[in-house]
Amino acid sequence: MKAALLPRASAAPGARLLIEDVPVPSPAPDQVLLKVHACGVCRTDLHIVERDLPPLRDPLTPGHQIVGEIAAGASPELPLGLRVGVSWMGGVDGSCPYCRRGDENLCDAPVFTGYTVNGGYAEYALARADFVHPLPEGLDDLHAAPLLCAGIIGFRSLRVAGVQRGERVGLFGFGASASVVIAVLQSWNCEVYVSTRGASHQRLAESLGAAWVGSEHEKPPVPLDRAVTFAPSGDVVVAALSSLRKGGIVAINAIHLDRIPQFDYDSLLWGERQLRSVANMTRADARDFLRLARDIGIHPKATVFPLDRCNDALAAIKADAIDGAAVVVP
Ligand SMILES: [Zn+2]
Ligand SMILES: [Zn+2]
Repeated sequence: MKAALLPRASAAPGARLLIEDVPVPSPAPDQVLLKVHACGVCRTDLHIVERDLPPLRDPLTPGHQIVGEIAAGASPELPLGLRVGVSWMGGVDGSCPYCRRGDENLCDAPVFTGYTVNGGYAEYALARADFVHPLPEGLDDLHAAPLLCAGIIGFRSLRVAGVQRGERVGLFGFGASASVVIAVLQSWNCEVYVSTRGASHQRLAESLGAAWVGSEHEKPPVPLDRAVTFAPSGDVVVAALSSLRKGGIVAINAIHLDRIPQFDYDSLLWGERQLRSVANMTRADARDFLRLARDIGIHPKATVFPLDRCNDALAAIKADAIDGAAVVVP
């Protein structure tokens, strides 16, 4: 099969994936083999390829928003040909203190798809049978793929931020995740305020019904109840914090930040404002979000790249050159 490989030696800013012929892997007893239909491209893939996240596997096939059909390892619950999704959370040990208290997203020994194990930038991929999510009808491959990380973790960010129906919510950055999250917020009758760089991201936010859209340096005109930041930038986190009412919460939806700049406690955090990170996701997040996505009909904007051009997809994410999501198709 064809697969994109990241050799350890080539990893650095600007590193490129190599497309190579490799054997189709065989599933272990707890796994299924998926014939990949599509794999969404996430900013985390870029952090892995450029080694903002430390290398854990050599070589590695990235990709953790996999839509595929069961091709081997089938069971009565997961029959051959069933269409399923795989996300970043590829497995947990089920026995660590975090798993036992129901916080499997914080597991001490997690499996991360496309990071600790090979992912979906390939014609076939393995996945743990208990970490695949059957996909609703009516969500085609290209539109389902970006929901599997950008969507699920975006949805978790709203939970971490404590969003209630009808609140004012700020989205700082407007890439793949925010463009899905805005649909969820609208279904909850929230007013959405978007600060983002790039005229085309601003236009997209306007066209998707944001109540207010400004540049990355502009502050929303009203105090926000909640905010979610998507850019890998600590300056953006502080900007979001400075937009909150007392008691408001900023959820940081980023696995990596450049740094957090020094900021003034008295004016920015005092008043029971909170700054929280969003780490991974649980299977319950995935189940709840995919059901909601079906019910409210989320169809994220997707730009397709053939597998051979996965490097171009990563470059486009890095340059913020895509509206909505990038999806690799083998
Ligand atoms: Zn991701
Ligand atoms: Zn665990």
